[in-house]
Formats: sequence, C-alpha cells, structure tokens
Amino acid sequence: KRASREFHPERTVVSVPTAGGTVEIGGEGPLVCMAGPCSVESEAMILETAHRVKAAGARILRGGAYKPRTSPYDFQGHGESALELLAAARTATGLAIVTEVMDTSDLEAIAEVADIVQVGARNMQNYSLLKKVGQQPKPVLLKRAFSATIDEWLLAAEYILAAGNPNVILCERGIRTFDRQYTRNTLDLAAVPVLRSITHLPVIVDPSHGTGLSQFVESCSKAAVAIGADGLMIEVHPDPARALSDGPQCLTPDEFDAAMANLAPIALAV
Ligand code: PEP
Ligand code: MN
Repeated sequence: KRASREFHPERTVVSVPTAGGTVEIGGEGPLVCMAGPCSVESEAMILETAHRVKAAGARILRGGAYKPRTSPYDFQGHGESALELLAAARTATGLAIVTEVMDTSDLEAIAEVADIVQVGARNMQNYSLLKKVGQQPKPVLLKRAFSATIDEWLLAAEYILAAGNPNVILCERGIRTFDRQYTRNTLDLAAVPVLRSITHLPVIVDPSHGTGLSQFVESCSKAAVAIGADGLMIEVHPDPARALSDGPQCLTPDEFDAAMANLAPIALAV
C-alpha cells in the first residue's frame, strides 16, 4: 500500500508555500498549528482571528465556508462569500488556509483559495470526493470518521494517494464511544504513535472536536504534542459565546495565546 512505511520508508513532509515562507508538516519539522473559527462568520471576525492566531504562532488559518452540520436547520456556512473572506485573510496575514470541501462541485473554487483542502470526518469514506481531491494538486487534510478503524482511515488516504496526490495529512479528531456525557468524542491519542509506526504520512490532532469543550483543549494539545503529533488543529473564536457553530469548544484568542506558550516547551522536548 502506498500509505505504508514499507512502500515509503521516509516520513512524508508536506510543504505548504506561504507568503511568510514554506510551512513543513511531518518529518522532523517543528510542530505546526492550524487555528481559527469553526465557521467563517464575517470579514471582521475572520480578520481579527487571523491576526490573533498568527501573533500566537499559528502558521495556518482554519475556517469553514461549507459546513457539514448534523442538523439541516443549523448554520450551513456562508459558502462562496466565505471563500472570498478567507482569501482576504490570507492576503492580510500571509497565513496559509485550510478549509473543508463537502461536494466535488465546489472543489475547484475551494482549491483556488485553500492551501490545504480538508475532507471532514463525515466524508472520510466519500470515495468519489476522495478520488477528486486526489486528482488536484493541493495537499489534503483527511479527518478520521467517527467510527473508522485505523485501517479504514488509511484506506481512505490510499484513495487520494492512488489518484496521484502524495500530500495527505491525517487528522485524529475523536471517535464515537459509549460515553458522551463529559466529552463530545473520545480523542484517540494512541492512534498517533500507531500511525507513526505504520505510515509515513504526517499526523495531526484536533482536540477541539476531539473533546468538544474548550476547557480540555490545552491539556489534550499538550498530550498530543508529547505523544508525537506533527501538528494541531484548534478552533479559536473572538467571542465563543456568540459563535454560529461549535462555540463551546472554541478558545478565545487570549486562551489560544496562553496555550501556545505552554505548548512550546513540550514541543521542544520531543
Ligand atoms: C471541522 O473541522 O470544522 C469539522 C467539521 O470537523 P469534523 O469533520 O472533524 O467533524
Ligand atoms: Mn467545528
């Protein structure tokens, strides 16, 4: 299999060119943080968030334009106009952009703005989408589905690799287990060293969706870094109480700044 270490013994390094220099994810490179709101809500909020996460040390701005919401009555994202706001934030800050594609018909427009195209947990086994993101040149962030085994996840990555795109980043974002009382999902941190032993692809951790609660994001980020994650994806919102999606798990910019400072010594030690 193309994702295996037998096929490719050296770890893959995904290079993302940005105005502020190339960001490398994987290999021996430094920890890379992707941060930003769950959804792009307005020009003011995305620009403010972008400037704040950049100042705190993030290299990549996240933000959804097309949102895979569990309920059809919840905010679905601003779509195309949100892509324009992400492009503006990219120009203003030099941050790279990661944003989700849900439908093959939006891929071209998304890949024009995104430096990394995200495939969300709900689409991890959308094989026609995987083939299409595999046929375009931007790196792909592949989130783990709620109930996917590690082998199912790697086979999903295999679709992208087999279609011709070697730049796949795996993202552990919590899985569905029997207990949802205290956390939204169960963050499977053991998946990180397991994946590092069987695949050359970079592995990042999303403790925001992994726990669902902002109060646990910093501690799980520290654990993710200590256990060998190549990067983190963290939701940050200027006013989480008013967020249109995932407010309870968003850090404020101040909280994110403090978390990044507290993560630095752990990242240096591993
Ligand atoms: C997201 O990152 O905004 C998201 C919807 O995550 P997931 O696909 O992991 O639920
Ligand atoms: Mn979210």
